[in-house]
Amino acid sequence: MWENLDVTLKKAGQDQLKKKPAQDELGFGKHFTDHMFLMKWDKQNGWHDAEICPYHQFQVDPAAMVFHYGQAIFEGMKAYKGEDGQIFLFRPKDNFERMNVSATRLCMPRLPVDKVFKALKALVYLEREWVPSGDGATLYIRPTMIAMEPTLGVKPSSLYYFYIIMSPVGAYYPEGFNPTKIYITDKYVRAVEGGVGNVKTAGNYAASLLASQEAKDAGYTQVLWLDACERKYIEEVGTSNIFFRIKDTVITPPLHGSILGGITRDSVIKLVNHWDISIEERKISIDEVVSASQDGSLQEVFGTGTAAVISPVGELFYKGEKYIINNGQTGALSHRLFEELQGIQYGRKEDPFKWTLRVG
Ligand SMILES: *Cc1c(COP(=O)(O)O)cnc(C)c1O
Repeated sequence: MWENLDVTLKKAGQDQLKKKPAQDELGFGKHFTDHMFLMKWDKQNGWHDAEICPYHQFQVDPAAMVFHYGQAIFEGMKAYKGEDGQIFLFRPKDNFERMNVSATRLCMPRLPVDKVFKALKALVYLEREWVPSGDGATLYIRPTMIAMEPTLGVKPSSLYYFYIIMSPVGAYYPEGFNPTKIYITDKYVRAVEGGVGNVKTAGNYAASLLASQEAKDAGYTQVLWLDACERKYIEEVGTSNIFFRIKDTVITPPLHGSILGGITRDSVIKLVNHWDISIEERKISIDEVVSASQDGSLQEVFGTGTAAVISPVGELFYKGEKYIINNGQTGALSHRLFEELQGIQYGRKEDPFKWTLRVG
């Protein structure tokens, strides 16, 4: 399957192959597979030197622009092993299309989506033994692009690396599908319209760490961000998008430039529509959520993202008050969405939207 790719294959020698970690030692992003994909960009040649090669370290100049001005973008997706050993990807081209949105915003070169997608399929197939089996366990895939020009001037770099590394990860919910506790901050903000909140760029995550640490110190799992202008409207939670179910209507904030357009978010919207459940993409204020909680009409809250798929919320903390949701239990819709999406991702359930793609 390599012949028609413009990608060199440098296979790791038998002695370079790593020992695969045991299922219960996977964790998240700690172990990496034997091979990676790498290609380079410069002004004269565009993307070139594409190769699937042994996983290795880079030599990077200390002046490389990525370290100083933060031109770094990434993606997160997964490969799933079905019951018969078949491997699936979920909406992979959407990740590369989104990466091109990030690239454009950060003045980085766009990816040739079809070529990169073919290389990813070849890489996953080569590393198929690394895809863990067991419900919830997956091979996490991290496409990354960084600026490599060693010059201390603030301008777009003239050299870039694009690479894909992969890490076997354990089930997100090893102890079951339990709700999380969320801390709503009105002290910090994540992003503002016109900024970079809608792209997956490294700086957004660096800027979120302090709020996240303070939430953890207070006994909460994640931070829920409010809008930067009024600190009133809900944006997203940690690295997930957020949904509310109030009076049987599902509500999620619209994509107005400060929120990352999640592929899981989009999948949830399509499924909920498909099930004829009413759904609104609109601004929702924290006051609306608080009053729905107080009058008993707030039925469910859940986050969506590739890592957890669906992350039910059992408690919100805002301005010194705790709001318990659905008695701290996972709601019915969260459950149904989780089962459906995971079923589609592992190839067990019918896939009406043609989201999954077989590898090999
Ligand atoms: C990646 C990410 C999401 C979720 O996107 P998915 O495509 O569903 O994984 C949501 N918010 C932020 C800030 C993210 O980085």
